[in-house]
Amino acid sequence: MKTEELARKKLEALYLAGERELPSIAAGFMPETALGTAMAPIPEPSPLPKSETMARKPLKPALNPEAELEAVRADIGDCKRCRLCEQRNNIVFGVGNPRADLMFVGEAPGRDEDLKGEPFVGRAGQLLTKIIEAMKLQRSDVYIANVVKCRPPENRNPAPDEIATCEPFLLRQIEIIQPKIIVGLGNFAVQLLLQSEAKITGLRGRFHPWPSAVVKAKFETSLPEGSIQLMPTYHPAFLLRNPSMKRPVWEDMQKVMAALTKNDAAS
Ligand code: URA
Repeated sequence: MKTEELARKKLEALYLAGERELPSIAAGFMPETALGTAMAPIPEPSPLPKSETMARKPLKPALNPEAELEAVRADIGDCKRCRLCEQRNNIVFGVGNPRADLMFVGEAPGRDEDLKGEPFVGRAGQLLTKIIEAMKLQRSDVYIANVVKCRPPENRNPAPDEIATCEPFLLRQIEIIQPKIIVGLGNFAVQLLLQSEAKITGLRGRFHPWPSAVVKAKFETSLPEGSIQLMPTYHPAFLLRNPSMKRPVWEDMQKVMAALTKNDAAS
């Protein structure tokens, strides 16, 4: 049967069943709405296939993550470790729940973030907020940080030495928060966290046990290997330019929601 015919039959069946409004979300994807349009409601997360679940190795929780994050911020101080200090207005450290199960890691602050001192508050940030809310969470439930804490001038890509200078702070944030899941937003975050040059298109959509042995050695972290699940996905700024990519992102976020629910049930 052709797709159109199938769709027509499904609509007829829905109509006969008393449905008078089309479901705004079909089989669980984020509709291709313009920024500012309400996100459609989410379906129940579907169970994860076996290959996408993994036992979470126990982490030793930070005793006082609030104070420990403040100590990292104090270490950064009025940072002059790289050239990004020259044009920044504010250091954009991170925001959210220091005990979050879910952490989002982006690339670098843009203009709005630099002015406000808070990550993801511009257009891309507003879209990230919608994604978080579509996951039935609030920004204050999760933790949001960037690889680089100062805005690269004209929003250029952060340079390798700038990333190398700033990455220990992100690592310390992760070590303190110990989220169950990290969502890596875009190539820069994902390539840094996975120590891989592979592109986001090939990495997204599945969980990567984190840290791997390679990553653990590189960052000299005491986090147990594979203790966190990393979900790479497209950056919200990319979604603004390519709205059709909201669908795969939404599929990725459904996997995240299902894994969070599963972890909740286990803990
Ligand atoms: N893009 C990012 O990667 N981070 C922000 O904070 C804002 C835009």
